[in-house]
Amino acid sequence: MDRFADRCALVTGAGSGIGQQITRQLLDQGARVVGADLDPAGVPSGAIPLRADVSDEAEVRELVRAAGAELGRIDALFNNAGIGSTANVLDSTVEEWDRVFAVNVRGVFLCTKEVLPQMLARGGGVIVNTASVAGMIGLRDRASYCASKGAVIALTKQIAVQWAGDGIRCNCVCPGTVDSPWVARLTASAPDPAARREELIARQPLGRLGRTDEVAAAALYLASDDAAFVTGTALVIDGGIVAA
Ligand code: NAD
Repeated sequence: MDRFADRCALVTGAGSGIGQQITRQLLDQGARVVGADLDPAGVPSGAIPLRADVSDEAEVRELVRAAGAELGRIDALFNNAGIGSTANVLDSTVEEWDRVFAVNVRGVFLCTKEVLPQMLARGGGVIVNTASVAGMIGLRDRASYCASKGAVIALTKQIAVQWAGDGIRCNCVCPGTVDSPWVARLTASAPDPAARREELIARQPLGRLGRTDEVAAAALYLASDDAAFVTGTALVIDGGIVAA
């Protein structure tokens, strides 16, 4: 399948989990890809790995310049890098709150701000943000994370409406609990990791965790011409958590 033949993509958080899978599937479907990450060692071979912190304005500017130089243009931007939190409003520190927003929200803002001008100049482009069901429902001890992903969903809609007449589509995926290194770290830090994992699985209406390739497939759908009439949407891939 060559859905992305001759397309050029920039994926953030491409060194692990969902971003790694998005990168692999883009490569498999014919795209040329720059994979950006704080730690680009895990960016799949075939993609061009670049190191950048998406929360840092100067680093994002340099990333987009370098990606443009490598690829010639950017047709698709996947704002996927993100970090979590394990605190509620009372025990969250201001530093933790600000860091989560810096990566999860400012990162989407900065990457979009740098990439959009070239998309507009060429008459089009697609942006896919990785939000979360945490932006739609309240999760215990995830105050900054839930708020930040709610902001990503709102920003997705705003960008979609703002540039709809200019050939730009902007959508987001909202994964539930996905079996990425992130969730592995979360369960590993519990007093009984196996029990914690079972607990997570027990919450899933479909009876299992999601897979990174399932989220990536949804992200690629949104970026593809199959979704030509889809913009401003938040596509939930969560095994039924939100419905329940
Ligand atoms: P992951 O930790 O496996 O991968 C995240 C990647 O982002 C890592 O390679 C990390 O180095 C990179 N990264 C973190 N901060 C960065 C920064 N400031 N600049 C550049 N790169 C940075 O996690 P994942 O599960 O693949 O998560 C990817 C996205 O999916 C995140 O936005 C996350 O919020 C979202 N998400 C994950 C789940 C889940 O259950 N795994 C559920 C919903 C949403």
